[in-house]
Amino acid sequence: MTWNFIGHSTTTDLIEQMISENRLSNAYLISGQKQLGKMTLAIDISAAVNCRNSNPPCNTCDQCLRIYSGVHTDLQVLSLDKVSNFRSIGIDDIRDSLSQVFLMPFEGNYRFIIVEDSHLLTREAANAFLKILEEPPPHLIVVLLTSDLNAILPTIISRCQQIILAPISTDEISASLINHWDADQEFANNIAQISGGSMGKAIELFSDPSILEIRNRRSEILLELINGTIIERFEYVSDLAFSENIEIHAILDLWLILCKNALLYGTVGNSITDFDVFFYKGLEKFGFSNKQVLLFIEEIRNAKELINLNVDKRLVLEQLMLSFPNMSNET
Ligand SMILES: [Zn+2]
Repeated sequence: MTWNFIGHSTTTDLIEQMISENRLSNAYLISGQKQLGKMTLAIDISAAVNCRNSNPPCNTCDQCLRIYSGVHTDLQVLSLDKVSNFRSIGIDDIRDSLSQVFLMPFEGNYRFIIVEDSHLLTREAANAFLKILEEPPPHLIVVLLTSDLNAILPTIISRCQQIILAPISTDEISASLINHWDADQEFANNIAQISGGSMGKAIELFSDPSILEIRNRRSEILLELINGTIIERFEYVSDLAFSENIEIHAILDLWLILCKNALLYGTVGNSITDFDVFFYKGLEKFGFSNKQVLLFIEEIRNAKELINLNVDKRLVLEQLMLSFPNMSNET
């Protein structure tokens, strides 16, 4: 077996067992946070059940190769980037796929429909799927993926075999980067620490080191702001306030992570990246107490909520800057 899906060996063992015992379900619901490899797993399953070799997925037979290169005629992938409004998957977006479900597979053993972000199916589209899942043709396998299980209709959940993916351990991520991607140990460890248990995130960080540089620079800026005067802080946020919300949230999320990591490192000695240790030492140098870090975390969370509520970004960010303890003696 050559699974492209990394980590979660219990899950792949279970699927291998189901395939070898011919106990496949007609519907799977794979849930878990973003970038855990839900789509990779779904494609692997479709290769495994259509593979012509004895240890599926072999990654070398014509079926596996056609599936992995995205040209297999029995595999359809529905995702937001293929629909008209980019916000939800409606009945018109799935009509073509659904019209073919009762046809026999053209080249493989099974027809496959994979729906990415299935929590974004409109109610009408979800109900159309539900109808098929109530009496699925034996040659059809539907795989629904979601990062928001709560938004899936309970009636759909009850018709699917659930696969819940948890974040994978930093050791597993680090080992995969070293073994599969030839990463050096120190770089792999640092990436594993900040990947949040997501192999996809780890690979993204590994493939594009500039993401890590931006992260480090943003961490330095936070230390500079903590040590800066009110005027310097306001200058920074007056520029930041012009950014898109997604950009501001990314910076605030990083600040949250840095503060949480600093607290965990300082109190229970959790292992964190070298750069996060540098951030922690910065806080220590400025005489930050744990209580102040906790309050700061609370203020960042409040700021994120207010931005989501469309409160004026500049006002929110200025308020956040005022809530920083004043470490410089100037104002
Ligand atoms: Zn194969």
